[in-house]
Amino acid sequence: MTTNITINETANYKKRQCNELAEHLRHMGLEKEALSLKNCSSFITYALFEDYKKVSDIRMCQKRYCPICGDMQRSQHSHKMSTIVDTLTRYNSNLITISLELTLRNNSVDHIRKDIKTLKTAWSKIVKCKAIKPNIIGYVYYIHPKYTNQDEYNEMNTHNHMHVIIFFKEVVEEHLKVEYWTEIFKRTANLPYTPYVHLRMLENKEAIITKANYAAKPLEIKHISKKDIKVYLEQIKKQRLITMSQSLNKIYKPLAIKKFTELTSEYKGRVTQYWEQDHYQLTEV
Ligand SMILES: [Zn+2]
Repeated sequence: MTTNITINETANYKKRQCNELAEHLRHMGLEKEALSLKNCSSFITYALFEDYKKVSDIRMCQKRYCPICGDMQRSQHSHKMSTIVDTLTRYNSNLITISLELTLRNNSVDHIRKDIKTLKTAWSKIVKCKAIKPNIIGYVYYIHPKYTNQDEYNEMNTHNHMHVIIFFKEVVEEHLKVEYWTEIFKRTANLPYTPYVHLRMLENKEAIITKANYAAKPLEIKHISKKDIKVYLEQIKKQRLITMSQSLNKIYKPLAIKKFTELTSEYKGRVTQYWEQDHYQLTEV
């Protein structure tokens, strides 16, 4: 059987990064997390067809900080966004896209989950506002529980914020003012201080995808101090950090199904890619 699979250096590089991070976590005393990274993608079985291949068996850790899984989720997301933007621009000649960054005051690492909840609750209130809801087509938000260890004596080591991409079918002047979003965010998040908000127009598809690709990047955890890493990982456990509005998911779903059902070539066999010391090997199964 001739396989249409080749292993490129990028796959080897990513798995090495993944194993390095596993080693790092082991040194931090996080055996379980280390093991799940070590096992991630160490076996991948593909079903081969005449002109494409499909993964039929894989064990991935699904962690947002995993160099393999985080990167895969990011590229799947960017692809999804690209399809959605194409459809939106086709049907909305006046499409206006805004990028927002909503930031909470620095907090201690054990407050991440609370901060995530504050951000999510505020956002769901914002999109229900009468002055916003009828004007938007959809949105996607990305929560960044960002750890900064500029000062080891400073307990306020997380900088929790969210990036939002909003698609408008129509905007009023207010929607383009940063003061407007600052006020509404302060109110919906019930903050006793004025939060930092950044607003930017995304002029074209390239700008939207660049933003989405940045915002969906894997979580960085290697710089987190030993005293905080365990709490940080506990706090982000099972937290959904990327959320797309139902309206955008509805646009994408039928397109994804269509793409899948169009594939009809002949089945050729299976091949497994496995990790051996420091690189992937292939074997027929
Ligand atoms: Zn993984």
